[in-house]
Amino acid sequence: MEKRFDCEEVIEEFEGLTKDAKRVQTETLKKILKDNCEAEYLKKWGVDGRTDPETYGCRVPLVTHKDLEPYIRKIADGAPYPVLTGNPITTITLSSGTTQGKPKLVPFNDELTETTMQVYRTSFAFRNRAFPIENGKSLSFIYGSKQFKTKGGLTAATATTNVYSSERYKKTMKALQTPSCSPDAVIFGPDFHQSLYCHLLCGLIFHEEIQVIFSTFAHCIVHSFRTFEAVWEELCNDLRTGVLSTRITVPSVRTAMSKILKPNPELADKIHKKCSGLTEWYGLIPEIFPNTKYIYGIMTGSMEPYLKKLRHYAGGIQLQSADYGSSEGWIGVNVNPTLAPEMATFTVLPNIGYFEFLPLSQGQNGDFDLDSDSGSNFTSVKPRFVGLTDVKVGEEYEVVVTNFAGLYRYRLEDVVKVTGFHNSTPELKFVCRRNLMLTINIDKNTEKDLQSSVEAAAKLLTAEKLEVVDFTSHVDLLSEPGHYMIFWEVSGDASDELLEECCNRLDLSFVDAGYVSSRNTNTIGPLELRVLSKGTFQKILDHYIQQGTVLNQFKTPRCVGTVNQSVLRILCDNVVKSYMSTAFG
Ligand code: AMP
Repeated sequence: MEKRFDCEEVIEEFEGLTKDAKRVQTETLKKILKDNCEAEYLKKWGVDGRTDPETYGCRVPLVTHKDLEPYIRKIADGAPYPVLTGNPITTITLSSGTTQGKPKLVPFNDELTETTMQVYRTSFAFRNRAFPIENGKSLSFIYGSKQFKTKGGLTAATATTNVYSSERYKKTMKALQTPSCSPDAVIFGPDFHQSLYCHLLCGLIFHEEIQVIFSTFAHCIVHSFRTFEAVWEELCNDLRTGVLSTRITVPSVRTAMSKILKPNPELADKIHKKCSGLTEWYGLIPEIFPNTKYIYGIMTGSMEPYLKKLRHYAGGIQLQSADYGSSEGWIGVNVNPTLAPEMATFTVLPNIGYFEFLPLSQGQNGDFDLDSDSGSNFTSVKPRFVGLTDVKVGEEYEVVVTNFAGLYRYRLEDVVKVTGFHNSTPELKFVCRRNLMLTINIDKNTEKDLQSSVEAAAKLLTAEKLEVVDFTSHVDLLSEPGHYMIFWEVSGDASDELLEECCNRLDLSFVDAGYVSSRNTNTIGPLELRVLSKGTFQKILDHYIQQGTVLNQFKTPRCVGTVNQSVLRILCDNVVKSYMSTAFG
């Protein structure tokens, strides 16, 4: 039995670590390098058992996933010697790949599970101070992905699957008093549509006990309640009769659900009445789950566009943005749970990895100096990195991670801004993925710029009580001159005049000087707004799920390049209307 959770003890431990962040970082690097000194990779770079940050920074190059891929491949193929880590890697993580196009393989080990638990415990301790949970359940929209064996016999699955299937996770969630209301058979069911339906049904059965609504990313919570809007009557019918809908065909899921689903006409009537009384589903969550204390998931970065809809479902319930991490490991914890998601920052835990920061003013476009003498294709930078405790408030950096599972000086390709310090460790705001997404010539527009333009243009839709369900973009270089294409799925039929106006507003809202001057000289053509048929983003989601992504880790790709032909085809095949901007004369 996990010992009862003591928030104050956890907070005290966190305060201790963050007060002494510099020493903790040095110790963490030392431990990582000592544990893995036999690894082929560290030997190759002549680390020679040295564990100090200076030697490490000079000898080991800065890398991207592409550079480490051959090593990870060797591990996956079953190399019988230490490749990246001293102890053998037994599990591989499949990153969601939704930002890059295809899933990446990343090494995973018990230390990563352990750091995940430390992150969960720490942010929970702070949340629980503000919003205490007592013997609650969580309606957690979480999913296990398909697991498969690599050539070398290692288990490969998404990061969240690796975590959710561990005993440590279940024990921790019990200790945090928020176990999922759904049985494992639902979480790990092979068909996510069926699992989502059952999550919702379990939520209704335990509706009074639900104190937390959770998913890894906010998109998944919004997607779940949009689904609820479509299936609520069927769910009520199941509650009434105690017979699970025939849409659930997976035997293990049916068996698990039969243990908790009993005929309950009173509950069915109650839910039916509540749903019928709602106006456009406003306040759905508090109406159906009256004891919900908060809604929890990552709401920053590319999740911000879903906040409006989430707030609509949430009524007045507090939204709490979750922590900052990736399949490659965690970075920071949200210890200010009362702040609105837009303001959320992440305090870096100095003992979960060794962190370096690359000032954004350096190598702006990824065009770093190549280490000419390394004789490799590694992208290496003369070390002008900033250590964790030396970053400057107000500056933007790219995060570089060294972790316990064989990633050394690994570029995460995320941009963060330092907003302050908690004791001696920085608080970071997530800015965007580093990759320039929209660029034709001298224009440079990031995910954040695209998001701002879409936000500005989408405001116009409120005139017809409509909203952008989801969006993405593409740079069309086949036309002469090249131009930006923005794809929108809209919640209903907007008039042509309004969409023309939106198209112009999109074009005018990219304020980057390179874009504006190129538009003025027509070296970039008029922006094109392409409106998609209803359900197109569902098709894209299904496509990624088929590739091995899980719903709770899904992030809509905000820019679809020509390398991602299958998604581009889905988009182009589903265009129902298109408009060209007339904003620049
Ligand atoms: P994955 O492919 O699932 O490993 O996604 C990891 C990526 O998700 C990170 O590199 C970030 O770009 C993004 N991400 C993770 N946590 C957050 C957060 N709290 N806020 C914004 N973006 C995040």
